[in-house]
Amino acid sequence: MFQYEKAWQAVMARIGRAAAMAGRSPESVRLLAVSKTFPPGAVRSVHALGQRAFGENYVQEALAKMDALADLPGLEWHLIGPLQSNKTGPVAERFDWVHTVDREKIAVRLSAARPASRPPLNICIQVNISGETTKSGVAPDAAVALAQAVARLPGLTLRGLMGISEPIDDDKTRRRQFGRLRECFEACRMAGLAVDTLSMGMSADLEAAIDEGATMVRVGSAIFGARGQRSEGAKK
Ligand SMILES: *Cc1c(COP(=O)(O)O)cnc(C)c1O
Repeated sequence: MFQYEKAWQAVMARIGRAAAMAGRSPESVRLLAVSKTFPPGAVRSVHALGQRAFGENYVQEALAKMDALADLPGLEWHLIGPLQSNKTGPVAERFDWVHTVDREKIAVRLSAARPASRPPLNICIQVNISGETTKSGVAPDAAVALAQAVARLPGLTLRGLMGISEPIDDDKTRRRQFGRLRECFEACRMAGLAVDTLSMGMSADLEAAIDEGATMVRVGSAIFGARGQRSEGAKK
């Protein structure tokens, strides 16, 4: 059986070290455990260690997992995968956070579909910091305007920004991209928006992200192990 405890503790230790190196407190960085492609039992094991926030990429898979884990107290579900407008209903009803809002139309639909009985849905604007045309996300210079539009919508709470660095082994490029997201985050604050979340950094680059100001790192394989080829390819 995979050693979840060892792996989770190791990630917590990496976060603590990176925060200390950056002169920040370890509590200033939240760990989002990315459980996409892993079965409910894996989430159960990591929940038992005290982890509460879990990230999922695929809506159908996430809904099935939520049903299977309905008995677990305190779970917080984050959508970190692309969101199509025909899926906004179940997402607004069941998730606690969405990190991938990159156009106003999606935000308007989430706002309309969020049940009044639930607290507002927490929203991060996804910003395309790598400039790759295949990546989703609003352009950096359009991030503040979209954040302002989201902040005005009922049923939603604007929390901050999310970005994914280019998957290349070049620390300088990664840092420049994380730095770009941090600049957008500061621009939101200058515009008077009450943002508190900078969601950036994954298994391979969480240290660089924390050094550049990340307040939430999204970590999958370093906690749960390697993901299978097949499920990785199943993007939709
Ligand atoms: C899969 C995924 C992660 C986690 O990636 P790991 O390399 O397994 O840590 C983080 N963020 C997003 C948006 C993802 O799709």
